[in-house]
Amino acid sequence: DIGSPRVLSIQSHTVQGYVGNKAAVFPLQLLGYEVDPINSVQFSNHTGYPTVRGQVVNGDELWDLIEGLEANDLLYYTHLLTGYIGSLTFLEMVLQVLQKLRTVNPNLIYVCDPVMGDEGKFYVNPELVPVFRDKVVPVATMLTPNQFEAECLTGRRIRTEAEALEACEILHALGPSQIVITSLDLDKKLLLIGSDKLNKDEPARQFRITMPKIEAYFTGTGDLMTALLLGWSYKYPNDLSKAAELAVSSLQGVLRKTIKDYKDVGLAPNMKQLELRLVQSKEEITSPKVSYPAERL
Ligand code: ADP
Ligand code: PLP
Ligand code: ZN
Repeated sequence: DIGSPRVLSIQSHTVQGYVGNKAAVFPLQLLGYEVDPINSVQFSNHTGYPTVRGQVVNGDELWDLIEGLEANDLLYYTHLLTGYIGSLTFLEMVLQVLQKLRTVNPNLIYVCDPVMGDEGKFYVNPELVPVFRDKVVPVATMLTPNQFEAECLTGRRIRTEAEALEACEILHALGPSQIVITSLDLDKKLLLIGSDKLNKDEPARQFRITMPKIEAYFTGTGDLMTALLLGWSYKYPNDLSKAAELAVSSLQGVLRKTIKDYKDVGLAPNMKQLELRLVQSKEEITSPKVSYPAERL
């Protein structure tokens, strides 16, 4: 290893468009990370389109790749990043992978986006919920659920900022020192809630970032958000709020650029087939202007 931080990223791949690894790899590379993607599925496109075709990778196939890396002494990683995982057996295998990576690097940071669903609906089999809660969350360093996923993991409704902060406390007690609820949908605005527990005996440092709600339906934003949080938090290891400010500002920059490009060619940006204009947003990713400050709670 010659020094760059190195991320093993286990997420979905789409041939066209930007979700999963397609939303995470390029931004992390722009931020200077070596990123090694393992694709948990290979689909034609994201789920916003009427048809999705492709293949699902199983747990044994994942393990085969890990054994290949191991045989060549290539299992040193600074980070494991996981997103969409389609089956119980694959999720169980991800836990085995984590264990192996931590025997090589005991300081490995595990950033987990517990992808389960959104707006009250599951897009994975609900049998994954107890496995995430009881086995995966406890070994994660950073957890980045959306509102629905935080509700599933804590078994509580989250309708207010206070309830989101309580959910963070419950999640900290399960294991992760850094929690980011990536969006909390309140009437007219969106909140991101962050909670950082630098050390077990101190109370968590909690903050909010208020974002304008854009009237469009984006797919892959959660995946991009988690990648950016990983990217910036390793550069600001003792300040999750700073990392979140940069990540949110980048993301909002990408979304503004996306909307503008669609409108410029006469397309309505409210269609479900929308794709993030990621390749066109290099500046927004490498040099975000902090326009959404974190407020300490
Ligand atoms: P997921 O896609 O996993 O459900 P979120 O919905 O929390 O994740 O989206 C992640 C981030 O994307 C949010 O923190 C927010 O910055 C941004 N985002 C997503 N949708 C919108 C929207 N309609 N308006 C403004 N920001 C959005
Ligand atoms: N479609 C596919 C194939 C995915 O894998 C994912 C998430 O990984 C999504 C859609 C939704 O992504 P997000 O939750 O970031 O909007
Ligand atoms: Zn998500």
